Amino acid sequence: MAPDTQISAALRQVSAERIQRTIEKLVSFQTRSTISAQDPASIAAGHGIGAAREWIKSEFERYSRDCGGCLEVKTDSFTEPAAERIPSPTEITNVYAVLKGTDSENAKRIVLVTGHYDSRNSDTLDISGVAPGANDDGSGTAVSLECARVLSKMKFPATIIFLTVAGEEQGLDGSSHFAKLAKSEGWNIEAALNNDIVGGDRSPQQDSSVVRVFSEGVPAGASETDLRLIRNLGGESDSPSRELARYVAEVGRTYPDDVKPMLIFRLDRYLRGGDHISFNQQGYAAVRFTEFRENFNHQHQNVRTEDGTEFGDLPKFVNYDYVANVARLNAATLASLASAPAAPANVRIITRKLENDSTLTWQPSPGGRAAGYELLWRSTTAPDWEHSQSLGNVTQFTSPLSKDNVVFAIRAVDKAGHESLPVVPSPNR
Ligand SMILES: [Zn+2]
Repeated sequence: MAPDTQISAALRQVSAERIQRTIEKLVSFQTRSTISAQDPASIAAGHGIGAAREWIKSEFERYSRDCGGCLEVKTDSFTEPAAERIPSPTEITNVYAVLKGTDSENAKRIVLVTGHYDSRNSDTLDISGVAPGANDDGSGTAVSLECARVLSKMKFPATIIFLTVAGEEQGLDGSSHFAKLAKSEGWNIEAALNNDIVGGDRSPQQDSSVVRVFSEGVPAGASETDLRLIRNLGGESDSPSRELARYVAEVGRTYPDDVKPMLIFRLDRYLRGGDHISFNQQGYAAVRFTEFRENFNHQHQNVRTEDGTEFGDLPKFVNYDYVANVARLNAATLASLASAPAAPANVRIITRKLENDSTLTWQPSPGGRAAGYELLWRSTTAPDWEHSQSLGNVTQFTSPLSKDNVVFAIRAVDKAGHESLPVVPSPNR
């Protein structure tokens, strides 16, 4: 990937101080439990999730005023019925800002960044106790907001959505509603970046040079036919989410930063889930960013000290420079994808007869922005792409390499070197 000087300049605008102010403001609402107060009096008093929601909305609106109204600020509100962690029907509101693409065809393509603005303490049903949620997930919310502030000063052919959701701690309710809405509206979300616990907790064993990027292997929505192909052809590590994770790794090499992505080839950590899963379940490519090492005393815990050990998700444990580095990696990924052509369509590998050569065919990248295509390949045992070859502006290519020995993919590239997500071919008899 060729670095884009405009993207590099935008990354320099990401500010640890701004992120700190955002996180401290979120903490000031005392609790952002999804089932906490959202009546007008509580909002006016700056207490509870309703106040947090209104503040996030006003921040997006402020960024929009600074870019001549370039952001469309929206809410997605719905009533979640009573459930295990929802004692009575509760209104949940996702707040988001849309930076619409400048090219009518490519504007239909969407890349998205999200964090959850709700918080919790030891008891998920506690509606008024202090739940600062500085790291979980004030940090991810701050990443989404900071990406919006910085990237809204730029223009991209494709659309970027900066999302903040609620209801995560009650069961991924907000993201689940949003992903289903996207699916039902036919939104073409090419990538969803979920940031959850990216505060870089300042415990001694933390590695602040690393952020983990989790991605599903076998797609949640794989059909029986898909599963048969995956089993026969070794497709376990080539879901769209996995290709997105590799794209993040490449962005990390192209725009070097003080934090490096560490790809984790699993959906999420043991015993845990997150909002990327809601997008995966609707068939979208989505990954999760999380700090290298979590301190579980500082998550989902009432603020207290026991035998000299401090518990609670307090701002003083957050490393703001680290959050800023993670925000840069997110912003670079969003900007690269939103600048790139769409991925080539209908990518096939011809398997009509037994032969050692490998012929791939595809349809041009929709939207007319591709200047050419590249072939990628790797050994079947390699975690990431090892080789790439420029093919020019063609829609068919025969490689002397055997498809039995490597994994191939095709990606589209524009004149400036922006790369689409790669597509692994399906067999075509
Ligand atoms: Zn979380």
